[in-house]
Amino acid sequence: MKATTTPMIGAELAKVFGHIERHQDAFVSRLLDYLKHPSISSDNIGMDEVAQLLVSMLKRMGFETRTIPTSGYPMVLGRWQHAPGAPTVLLYGHYDVQPADPLEAWISPPFEPAIRDGRVYARGAGDNKGQHFAQILAIESHLAVHGRLPCNVLFLLEGEEEIGSPHIADFVKANRDLLRSDLVVTADGPMHESGSPIITYGVRGVVSFELRARAANRDVHSGNLGGLVPNPIWTLVHLLATMKNADGQITIEGFDDDVSAPTDLERAAAARLPHDVEEVKRALGLTRLDSPSDRSVADRIMFHPTLTINGFHGGYGGPGLKTIVPHEAFVKCDARLVERQAPDDILRKIEAHVKKHAPEVEFVGLESTPPSRTPVDAPFSEIVQSAVRTAHRVEPLIYPSLGATLPDYAFTKILGTPSFVVPYANADEANHAPNENIRIDCFLKGVRTGAALLDGLGRSVWPKGL
Ligand SMILES: [Zn+2]
Repeated sequence: MKATTTPMIGAELAKVFGHIERHQDAFVSRLLDYLKHPSISSDNIGMDEVAQLLVSMLKRMGFETRTIPTSGYPMVLGRWQHAPGAPTVLLYGHYDVQPADPLEAWISPPFEPAIRDGRVYARGAGDNKGQHFAQILAIESHLAVHGRLPCNVLFLLEGEEEIGSPHIADFVKANRDLLRSDLVVTADGPMHESGSPIITYGVRGVVSFELRARAANRDVHSGNLGGLVPNPIWTLVHLLATMKNADGQITIEGFDDDVSAPTDLERAAAARLPHDVEEVKRALGLTRLDSPSDRSVADRIMFHPTLTINGFHGGYGGPGLKTIVPHEAFVKCDARLVERQAPDDILRKIEAHVKKHAPEVEFVGLESTPPSRTPVDAPFSEIVQSAVRTAHRVEPLIYPSLGATLPDYAFTKILGTPSFVVPYANADEANHAPNENIRIDCFLKGVRTGAALLDGLGRSVWPKGL
């Protein structure tokens, strides 16, 4: 963790930090109260109650607040727009949590929050109630000290993140005007395991598809009819071999056309990330990494697409042997996409490739989500970095992209707004698992980060008209 010299804190923010320090015990006990309310989206438990709880919390701070229905659970949208001329930040979070199973593995019950060893344990402590509650307290602290906020704030809280955010993109499309803002900041996920704060600027996209090969109308004897009846497993093996070669290069025509090379800034930020390849190999029992071998970890995870066979099914796999020519075989694949690759275009290219090389194979496109990338030097990037630096007194790690997929494109591509993910939870928050927790010091640093962000935005000379 690289220590940094304490940034200069203006008098106004210093007063807010003082307020946070004086009220930290009360803030933690209010977090415990909030965490008592279950809101499990996959089981429809407590969803309306927690949405209404948030409405009342935001209204109490003077936010113009309402729930907006979707065909699933409602969005909670709050607005404080009394800082004319200052930028508007959209703070995104989610009020739903994962189911608590297996209950017997919890040391204290998931919805009876408990403090042990400087941590709050409860379902939702880290993912995501503790994090958006920290944002709420940051706002409340500014209002308590100054009677106003330094910038305009929109709060968007989703109730379906834990079930894959099925309605966020359509919601953003239908409510562009309501959501108009200058930047989006999401406090979610864990910080780096070294304890360093991180800021994430993007995610990879994903497309999933299935290939189905069929030949005879039933399995046949591999002696009597072998050599006569085509084998659908071989058909898929040959087809797959035309899609990615032994050197690890994806050979689907046009697949890489829109892959944009990382900028110098992205490359430099990625090179500073502490990736320990030997530790990854040791932890996973690997003797080598995937081909091509000449790529850095960041290159592999952030800047290159992948083509992955998720599963291959067909024929006989039971004990002993069974000398058949199977009559059908199936493959499920996904491809992780990087910036500028468009899922529809990629699916079309894969389908055309299948038609050309194995016309008898059926191609079925499944789910897809576009990638998202906010440039490291995007407007407001420095303010977000400076807020993290001010609250943590260390330099944040900059992730140009995550390897995984989140629907961040709803903000960057549909809304056209730079989007930054600033996690507040500790790396061992055990999100989605028993004994989920947030360290109290991380939670309070989150409140300070939120406060410093609002302060930084208020004093920014911002690029109007972008
Ligand atoms: Zn989650």
